Amino acid sequence: MGQRPQDADARRAVPPVICYPNETLPAVDMPLYLAALEGATLVSSHLAAPRDATHFHVKAGQFFRISCVDGPQVGDLNLWNAHDLSERFYSGKTRALHGTHVSEGERLWSSFPHLRPMATIVQDSLAWYGMDAFGGSVHDVIGTRCDPYTGMLLSGDTYHYCCHSNITRALADATGMSLHEAEPHVHDVLNVFMCTGFTRDTGQYFMKASPVRAGDTLVMLAEIDLLGVLSACPGGDCSSEHSSDVAQCYPLQVDVLEPAAGALDGWQSPAPNAYDRTHGR
Ligand SMILES: [Zn+2]
Repeated sequence: MGQRPQDADARRAVPPVICYPNETLPAVDMPLYLAALEGATLVSSHLAAPRDATHFHVKAGQFFRISCVDGPQVGDLNLWNAHDLSERFYSGKTRALHGTHVSEGERLWSSFPHLRPMATIVQDSLAWYGMDAFGGSVHDVIGTRCDPYTGMLLSGDTYHYCCHSNITRALADATGMSLHEAEPHVHDVLNVFMCTGFTRDTGQYFMKASPVRAGDTLVMLAEIDLLGVLSACPGGDCSSEHSSDVAQCYPLQVDVLEPAAGALDGWQSPAPNAYDRTHGR
């Protein structure tokens, strides 16, 4: 460890600067989105069984509503451009733009070179939770997804129903790819309904019992045509452990909703990022 300099306290006292002030992000017309949601009708429903995943398609300009239908349950969400799996949800950039957790009016951004909104959160029944005394909040973009490799690394266990494997199977089913073809498309998730943070003393990723209850929902507008996969995490409400069959688990439902004709007039599906990709050459 390097020697503590004499001005250590002064260096620590320098106030932080927000990396990406987000006032210049494209504005979200929430009144328009909410009015369109009000008159939207059900197109299809998809149920993620406990410790398993379901896939769903949402067209640009449709909504999808993730519901906790039976008991406290968190979900791991992956999103792809329905026509190009290389464009997928980019949790790291979403975190850099919006913070550790996302809620109403915030967006899920896609990977380079596209970097555009894939989905916008329109309604969040857990928005009241805010940030608790532990620094915990809901719907994080700081976790990865529970997976069998980390379980093998830390405890030597084999477990097949982690979100990573659940999403891999569901993506293979959705596309006709083999498991090995589908797996590299699986990416870091939006942890829907999960309550997480970083401990203040050691900076470690923590989870705690989710405040979600049956009836809670998270509703998003698809900004582009989407293929989604939602896994009902084997952690259940994540009050104790995941990556095992120990936790009580419940299903999660995804409903796709179509706004009334003309309800989104004035809205446009966002174009890919305008950077010319010449990278200085
Ligand atoms: Zn999980």
